Amino acid sequence: MTALDESRVMALRAQFPQLSRRVHGKPLVYFDNANTAQKPQSVIDAVSGYYRECNGNVARAVHTLGSEATELYEGARDAITRLLNAPSRDQIVLTSGTTQAINLVAYSFLAPRLVAGDEILVSHMEHHANIVPWQLIAERAGARVIAAPINEAGELLLDELAALISPRTRLIGITHVSNALGTINPVAEVVALAKARGVPVLVDGSQAVPHLAVDVTALDCDFYVFTGHKLFGPTGTGALYARREHLAAMPPFFGGGEMIRTVSFTGSTFADPPHRFEAGTPNIAGFIGLAEAIRFVESIGINAIAERERVLRDAALERFAGVEGFRLIGQARQRAPVFSFVIDGVHAHDVATLLDFEGVAVRSGHHCAHPLMQFYGVPATARVSLAFYNTIEELDVFVTALERVRARLR
Ligand code: PMP
Repeated sequence: MTALDESRVMALRAQFPQLSRRVHGKPLVYFDNANTAQKPQSVIDAVSGYYRECNGNVARAVHTLGSEATELYEGARDAITRLLNAPSRDQIVLTSGTTQAINLVAYSFLAPRLVAGDEILVSHMEHHANIVPWQLIAERAGARVIAAPINEAGELLLDELAALISPRTRLIGITHVSNALGTINPVAEVVALAKARGVPVLVDGSQAVPHLAVDVTALDCDFYVFTGHKLFGPTGTGALYARREHLAAMPPFFGGGEMIRTVSFTGSTFADPPHRFEAGTPNIAGFIGLAEAIRFVESIGINAIAERERVLRDAALERFAGVEGFRLIGQARQRAPVFSFVIDGVHAHDVATLLDFEGVAVRSGHHCAHPLMQFYGVPATARVSLAFYNTIEELDVFVTALERVRARLR
């Protein structure tokens, strides 16, 4: 592992065209990586290279362009298999992102098994994408979604989660890293608890893959999902990893081209997984870009990224502690460099709007986590979310900008 020292970070930053743009006349400080990350030139080139050099549809053309496109596109499945350390590329379903992946599990895996009185257990810190699909299928079946509590620090209460697992629990949905708080959840412990009771677990890895080494084989979860655009890849890309026996038992969710074996008006038969779940023309350019994004991360090393981000995280916490009126929402001991905060007496949207005038991009709002906002009794927070390419200098710019915002609003 080559450490990410300042000079290497600066060299890597230079590969992200957008990081050198200006906003309102100021150098951009991009602190909204949990929302979507910036893309390196190699990813942008991979996307445009496909359209420039081998634009053809995948899986259905035998001509040269079609086979070149298919090879590049299927390269994404290989890259994701490596990224997650999945046992086999056949266990990777390419989806438009986390949202589609969770809906696929909800409608194809869980809905057919769900009966009245059943329960789906999630945590109180889930993104709406890991709540609402379960509610939709629960409503149809007369089942319900229940939430495992968290403490004030924003940490999952593991004992309480264990106590909520009942003979009616049909699935546990848990985020690996909270998009709103940065909390890293003890997903291995959750999987062990669930396994002991025969309950399948879906892990939402959207905010984990950009920061941590993920190993689904070691984790032994049933499902792992993530979205590509937070991992320096294009929007409209993502994946579902699933245990082989689950995929084999799952009926199709979307019907159409490429997911069939035979079709007649008396009925159709379906392709094996993962193609059974990949109807229609996919986001070919996007996945070619995602394959490149994963190669980019591999070229740096996820452990080097994690180490660099620990330095940034600690530097951020140190600086935030010195800002008057700054209230950090969530103080988990195990955390990614994602920080929600409120400034006393100022609405989060005003903070984010005024920071934008200083060139600093942060997100404000409920972060698709209404229940979490209700837990903390705030309508919204502002959120700083860092990537390895952010710098200590940018943290200083942020703090100075925040002081100016506070002075303006006083
Ligand atoms: N889960 C988490 C934890 C997220 O942060 C996000 C994106 N904010 C999602 C799910 C949804 O991802 P997408 O919109 O790319 O499907």
